[in-house]
Amino acid sequence: MGGDIPADTKLPDDVLEKRLREAINASQNKATFSSLDLGSLQKWPMATAGELDTRARPLVRAMQRGSIDEAQRLLFSSGNRVLDAGATPGASPSANPFIGLREVVAAIGGLLDDGGTWCVVQSEDESSSIGIRVVSVLEIHEDTPVIVVLYRPFNRSSAKDCAQWISEQSKSNAPALGNGFIHIKRPSIEVKLLLLYLKLNASLVPADFPVDKKPNEARFKPSVLLPVAPLDFDALAKIAHNLGCSVCGKKGASRCAQCQTVWYCGAECQRADWPDHKQSCKSLKGGRWVPITFQEQLPLPSIPGVDPKQTKYMSNINKFSSDFSGRSTATRKFEAADPPPPNVWGDRVFMIKLQVALSYGEPGHMMLYDRKRSFQGFMLRKDNPAFAELYAEMLGPRGGFGGMKMYRWAKRTGDWELSVCLDRQPQTDTKW
Ligand SMILES: [Zn+2]
Ligand SMILES: [Zn+2]
Repeated sequence: MGGDIPADTKLPDDVLEKRLREAINASQNKATFSSLDLGSLQKWPMATAGELDTRARPLVRAMQRGSIDEAQRLLFSSGNRVLDAGATPGASPSANPFIGLREVVAAIGGLLDDGGTWCVVQSEDESSSIGIRVVSVLEIHEDTPVIVVLYRPFNRSSAKDCAQWISEQSKSNAPALGNGFIHIKRPSIEVKLLLLYLKLNASLVPADFPVDKKPNEARFKPSVLLPVAPLDFDALAKIAHNLGCSVCGKKGASRCAQCQTVWYCGAECQRADWPDHKQSCKSLKGGRWVPITFQEQLPLPSIPGVDPKQTKYMSNINKFSSDFSGRSTATRKFEAADPPPPNVWGDRVFMIKLQVALSYGEPGHMMLYDRKRSFQGFMLRKDNPAFAELYAEMLGPRGGFGGMKMYRWAKRTGDWELSVCLDRQPQTDTKW
């Protein structure tokens, strides 16, 4: 989903949970569903086994959201992560629990397409699981379903209840599924994330919504599944701001004096983080930071007979949006003249890639972008006193890549401004 939290984070649970809440809510675009009235929605057109129904729309697709950017990455990565109707959920646990959450939600959609009505999502160590039974599938609009479910978390001490529930479910809804019941095994962090997602979504189900609990479901609670998208960069920018102390999350922290790249509330947190921070801190020590300005695109040659606004728009399709229906982005881009890219990194230092186009002679511009591709822009020689020095770095021993590109640490200092650490080569193996 994109909200970067290091695996070995020392943020306390309540801070983490708050960030997770924000991320989960944003990923479902939930702000737009605040007035969702479940009782008034139509049923989603489900396919019926053996019947050709042109109105039916597969849920495995409808429950997935992706950005074009992500789709491209998926396409070019060797392991195609897009779950298809025939894919086995849980076959390839994701390295990123947020992607995992999206896969599980899509997999439940696929299960419904196949005639299933319930499943158990269990942690790989089998210490916890969630029983989920689908109550109804409704349509918010034609590409957005909402799946109303009953769910209950089980742990080792309630494992017997879980087994009993499974056995009763199998009697009522097994034939379509062949192997009796759907058992989705995922890393335990994903099961926790799914549980938090269900808890957060529970408030969308009105108290009087009919859910028809069975006798063994007294402790089940209603909630909904909504499509989960990768966070778009506007949402990430909101989450990335004001992170406070890098260790404990406390507000009012100050920067590491040596590298200026991390924030601590005090000496105690700084000491605790030193073993991890040491390397990047030393590699930036004493570096020379230069200001640069960039713009979204190169000046376009005017095309006779074409409205300049039109050419601009064509070069400006927002590939970062997670709204894959394209409804809002086109109009938003048209109305706003050159909005600055969202600042997804907040006050943090991040890596940028600078590259020049293959050309004869001295380049007149460099392209630059960050790893997340939250922005991509051009730094023009004529606007940047530091251009020649940066180009010399690229050609020099700290550049690499045949003088065509290099990586550098940067900080966002304005809408169209960065501060770049000129003479320190980031220690990184990841090439992008
Ligand atoms: Zn702290
Ligand atoms: Zn430092």
